[in-house]
Amino acid sequence: MKAMVLDSPGTPLREAELPAPEPGPGRVVVAVDACGVCRTDLHVVDGELPDPKLPLVPGHQVVGRVVEPGERFAVGARVGIPWLGWTCGECRYCLSGRENLCDRARFTGYQLDGGYAELVAADERFCFPVPKGYDDLQAAPLLCAGLIGYRSLRLAGDAERLGLYGFGASAHIVTQVARHEGRRVFAFTRAADDGAQAFARELGAVWAGDALSPAPEELDAAIVFAPVGELVPAALAAVAKGGAVVCAGIHMSDIPSFPYELLWGERVVRSVANLTRRDGEEFLELAPRVPVRTEVEAFRLEEANEALGGLRAGEIRGAAVLAVGA
Ligand SMILES: [Zn+2]
Ligand SMILES: [Zn+2]
Repeated sequence: MKAMVLDSPGTPLREAELPAPEPGPGRVVVAVDACGVCRTDLHVVDGELPDPKLPLVPGHQVVGRVVEPGERFAVGARVGIPWLGWTCGECRYCLSGRENLCDRARFTGYQLDGGYAELVAADERFCFPVPKGYDDLQAAPLLCAGLIGYRSLRLAGDAERLGLYGFGASAHIVTQVARHEGRRVFAFTRAADDGAQAFARELGAVWAGDALSPAPEELDAAIVFAPVGELVPAALAAVAKGGAVVCAGIHMSDIPSFPYELLWGERVVRSVANLTRRDGEEFLELAPRVPVRTEVEAFRLEEANEALGGLRAGEIRGAAVLAVGA
């Protein structure tokens, strides 16, 4: 099979011919139709996340068709493969509904080969049926940008005035869900990023502007998607007493020190880590009802480095997706 392979962090992916993945008990082999490109892939490729499997096939927003069945999914079933690839099922986190925090969790496109390839194998217990009404390219970003955005939104509480810091793949989905729930969305981007600000307004944000300038009004909660620690005190300064600042990324530059006054008033700073299968089931049931419409920029599998480069440069509108078999 054709695949894009990371040999060593900090180097471009290499186009390669690899043996097809082996089926096994509880595993399905999936022919990849589309694979979303996530900022986490960039952190893996750039060496900002420790100890990836090497060589590695990245990619954890996979939409494809089962070619080697398991017990749950038959040949031809359309499935989505997310970031959470395996959990132990027996640690204190797994046993308390928090498998996203499992001590021994293994992640797709990080410790397990992912979807930047024509074929991928996955533990079928962690795969999801893909909702009807989405083509492959449009469905792919639901599997991480959508899922993590959804989990972040839940952890932001019932905030009516919601700030989103960084307006990429996740924020463009969360905006639609938040509006569906009757919230008002404020989009905070880099000062001169007119494209992202216009995009946010098109999706229904009531305001879009510079992340480091004062907010136009007090917020009830904020989600920080951009991997920029400086945004945490900025968001804390923008939220009202009792409000939460939710950091949604897996990696962030250091958060600068800030006066306690910004946290005072029962403000909360927290992170969101990974997903549970329950998040996936809830969000994939909700998405078609909103309905969430994803905006994607398609690349060929061989163009994975270009897709990652576009994401790194902030040039992608919505989500970048590799069209593999689609
Ligand atoms: Zn566990
Ligand atoms: Zn992701």
